[in-house]
Amino acid sequence: MKYLSLASKDKRYPLKEVLFKGLAPDGSLFMPESIPQLDRDFIENMAAYDLPEIAFRVLKPYMDEDIKDDELRAITRESFNFPIPVRQIDGNLYVLELFHGPTQAFKDVGARFLSRILGYFNRNEDRKLLVLTATSGDTGGAVANGFHKVEGIEVIVLYPKGKVSPYQEYQITSPGANVHAIAVEGSFDDCQRLVKEAFRDEDLRKIVYMTSANSINIGRLLPQMVYYFFAYAQLRAMGVKGDPVITVPSGNFGNITAAVLAHKMGLPVKRFVAATNANDVVPRFFKSGVYEPHQTIVTLANAMDVGDPSNFPRMYELYNNSLQDIKTEMISLSVSDAEIKKAISEGFGKYSYLMDPHTAAAYTAAIGQVDKSEISLFVSTAHPFKFGEVIDDIIPGGLEKAGYTIDFPKPEDGGRDVMSADYLDLKTRIAIVAR
Ligand SMILES: *Cc1c(COP(=O)(O)O)cnc(C)c1O
Repeated sequence: MKYLSLASKDKRYPLKEVLFKGLAPDGSLFMPESIPQLDRDFIENMAAYDLPEIAFRVLKPYMDEDIKDDELRAITRESFNFPIPVRQIDGNLYVLELFHGPTQAFKDVGARFLSRILGYFNRNEDRKLLVLTATSGDTGGAVANGFHKVEGIEVIVLYPKGKVSPYQEYQITSPGANVHAIAVEGSFDDCQRLVKEAFRDEDLRKIVYMTSANSINIGRLLPQMVYYFFAYAQLRAMGVKGDPVITVPSGNFGNITAAVLAHKMGLPVKRFVAATNANDVVPRFFKSGVYEPHQTIVTLANAMDVGDPSNFPRMYELYNNSLQDIKTEMISLSVSDAEIKKAISEGFGKYSYLMDPHTAAAYTAAIGQVDKSEISLFVSTAHPFKFGEVIDDIIPGGLEKAGYTIDFPKPEDGGRDVMSADYLDLKTRIAIVAR
């Protein structure tokens, strides 16, 4: 398989270059040049295979000239080493729980796979690879954990000091070893600016071999298809007939793009529901035909606070950049904070099912948009205890009532590595780490 840039389709890129560059040289996103079709028999008999084997078979056509089968099998076994269960909530309503990985959010899937495939391709290089990432919270933990102790790779995670939750900070700072967590005296935007400056610094790039692990990397996107196939296998094993309507809580639209790609490879899906929070660029586009990115609005589902979804162009390409085409298979709607609160309360009261705010947005959309006669599968992207403060406001003591307790050592003041938001500081640190 070769890859193309969305903007200029004349040049074909090999997988390794696509993974290491992240973005195409023209600043656009990479896409596979064609969509492999999976065997009908395999799809209908998928319940006979375990998760790593399904992952292997789904991913192989995207990389079979580049990685030997046994190597890819080893990578999928290490990446998909936690449960991804489908649970029945009520009648035809099911949830796909993506939060059983080490940092309790679905980003573990992409981060684990990307870290291992980068490690694989970097194996025969005589220099270390530096992964430089800025995080507002969730991504940093998944990246820190996913890349921890991967041979040949050093990681620097920048996060805004005092602006991530104590638990998120714990997840970013605790791995250590090859993972260097730095609290920046500034905002998330400062962190992002520092990272961009490093990537633009030609002098630095001459001496340091670096890449980023952000969500536009195709190495994070492709593995996210796997759990949609696995969900289908589980529904079949549960005796569920009919194709599911899949509802995905969306921010940058990477997760739902992976679901659409899985569908284009042959996964039976009745239709998609893309649920956003108050950041409603896509729902408004579906209504008006005008695509208008806006300033980010802060909501309870903060990992979906995105005013300009970076993966949307990929998803749109899968529908021939046609609003008419996309609307035949997908609806999109925005869920308010009030609706998210109501859903958390209703889910727990009615079904004893506790949801984090992102999952609650998907639940709201699924309940509102899918008929009770249809198979409805909504996606849960984070464990409720990652958002304990929000839940406690809505259901006092909710986590304890649901049987979740959480205990972790608080990073001590002075125990963390703090840096000013000054690029020269970062540059010095990069030079030391990459040596
Ligand atoms: C990142 C994230 C999302 C949004 O996923 P996208 O792929 O950006 O649409 C949803 N929920 C949680 C918990 C997340 O961390």
